[in-house]
Amino acid sequence: MTQTHAALLDTVADRLQEIRSAGGGAPPPVLVSAQGPTVIVDGVELINLASNDYLGLAAHPGLVQAASDALHTYGVGSGAVRPIVGTMDVHRALERRLAELKDAPDALLVPSGFTANSGTVGALLGKGDAIVSDELNHASIIDGCRLSGARISVYRHGDVADAERALQAVDDADHVLLVTDGVFSMDGDIAPLPGLLDLADSHGATVMVDDAHATGVLGETGRGTAEHFGCSGRVPIQIGTLSKALGTLGGFVAASQAVVDYLRVRGRPYLFSTSQPPSVAAAGIAAVQLLTSDTARRRRLGESAERFRAGLQRLGYDTGASVTPIVPVLLGEEHRATALSSALRRRGVLAQAIVFPTVAAGKARVRAIVTAAHSDAQLDHALEAFAAARDEI
Ligand SMILES: *Cc1c(COP(=O)(O)O)cnc(C)c1O
Repeated sequence: MTQTHAALLDTVADRLQEIRSAGGGAPPPVLVSAQGPTVIVDGVELINLASNDYLGLAAHPGLVQAASDALHTYGVGSGAVRPIVGTMDVHRALERRLAELKDAPDALLVPSGFTANSGTVGALLGKGDAIVSDELNHASIIDGCRLSGARISVYRHGDVADAERALQAVDDADHVLLVTDGVFSMDGDIAPLPGLLDLADSHGATVMVDDAHATGVLGETGRGTAEHFGCSGRVPIQIGTLSKALGTLGGFVAASQAVVDYLRVRGRPYLFSTSQPPSVAAAGIAAVQLLTSDTARRRRLGESAERFRAGLQRLGYDTGASVTPIVPVLLGEEHRATALSSALRRRGVLAQAIVFPTVAAGKARVRAIVTAAHSDAQLDHALEAFAAARDEI
């Protein structure tokens, strides 16, 4: 018998070798502490500028208490997918809170933000439809676009005029979804939502915003990008996650009753992936409550981020278009980003190098994320480390 196929597992091993010899695939830091403004890695306490725990809720005592109470009532697992027997009252209660937070008629809870994006785009659009998408949209949106089978028309990052060109290119589609991240995770800039909404209106397109990094961060009461721009009520499909500012885990879709109910019968993550553990949902309820009652946290977050970004700029670092707590230090070549990250680490600061394929080749950076939980002294210490590390990149 002749062998007609290359051995898959050998090819995979070769590819991995290639990635490693290019400096990729380094193992992640392993924490032996709770998530927080400082963490312990390899026995060393580091100032943590790497997490998405914007409001410092991941280990907040109120959330821990809510989760612990729920553990004793409901146990550790939910036991099934939502429509079978995996819906508990805490899941429904959390959905109502999230709908309120997002000023939407209802919300649907799914296992993660990733599946909220891929499942929603995949379920709502199909052959004959088109999706107009920012070139820097999150991987889960891109996967959803591919899953849907719709035509994909990409526009230049944050460019409303180019979005119009991308819309015109799919003028013959049955339905058009215009989709964007609210806050872009690797650059810390904000989508030009008012312009995109006007554009969508004039072309009969529907807008979906992924507020993974905006919920709890942007807007007077932390409701996200729409509130930030005074466009509340104008975004028909809002995606969110509980895994960032809300401190836990789980994705959600806040939308009209029909969209949410449709996703309950056709959304694949809801139908086919087991629901969040009830303790996680209970902690989520506590998180939303805290977010809406304790506005000082978000104010502190905004002020600290601004001060930290200005500090980096004074040191001569290029922070790009960042206007949020996500502060990239743009370095270009991969080795410069990894050198800066290592130099910071030696000085007690954890800020990860972000390289291809997470960002385009030649656009490597170190990403620093400020949280409300960092003290002024911790951020000053981090800035001193950035200052001292300048000579090592
Ligand atoms: C993190 C992230 C997601 C995925 O959310 P998870 O809850 O972590 O799965 C989706 N969109 C964007 C923009 C993100 O940064």
